[in-house]
Amino acid sequence: MLDPNKCPFCDLSHGLANSIKYESVCSRCGSALYPAEKQILEQSGNRIIKRIEKEWPLSFYTQWPIKRGYIAKTQDVSLNGIQILSHTPVSEGQLLKINSHMLDAVAIVVDVREQHTMLKKRWRVGLQYVTLRFHNTQGTFVEVNA
Ligand SMILES: [Zn+2]
Repeated sequence: MLDPNKCPFCDLSHGLANSIKYESVCSRCGSALYPAEKQILEQSGNRIIKRIEKEWPLSFYTQWPIKRGYIAKTQDVSLNGIQILSHTPVSEGQLLKINSHMLDAVAIVVDVREQHTMLKKRWRVGLQYVTLRFHNTQGTFVEVNA
C-alpha cells in the first residue's frame, strides 16, 4: 500500500499526505508524488491520456540511491499504466521511477515477458502507476529540474 506520507520510491517521509499537489515531487529523489488513483478519477487525466502519443522514449531507475538509469520505449499508455520495451530485465513487483517528456511516475512492475529479437534480448514490461504526473497539463506549471 502507498503510504501517503512517504515517497514511494526513496521512502522519504515528506508528511504532505492530503496536501500533495498535482505537481508535487519528492525533495530527495524527484519522483512524482501525486497518487495515480486520484489521477484516474479526474477528467483532466482522461483528456490528457487520449491526446498523447503511445510511443516515446523514457528512462527508468530501479533503486535508490540511483546508480544508473535505463532507457526504454513505451508501447502503450493508459491511465492505469504503461507498457514498455526494455533491454534491461526487471522483475514483477519491482518499483521503478519513470522519467519522460510526457510524464513522470513511480510504477510497479506487474508483468514481464521476454522477447527474442535477432540481435538481443528484450522484455515487454507492464507497469502500473503508483504516482503519476503529466507534464502537459492545462494549469500553471513550473518544471523543476533537479
Ligand atoms: Zn523520493
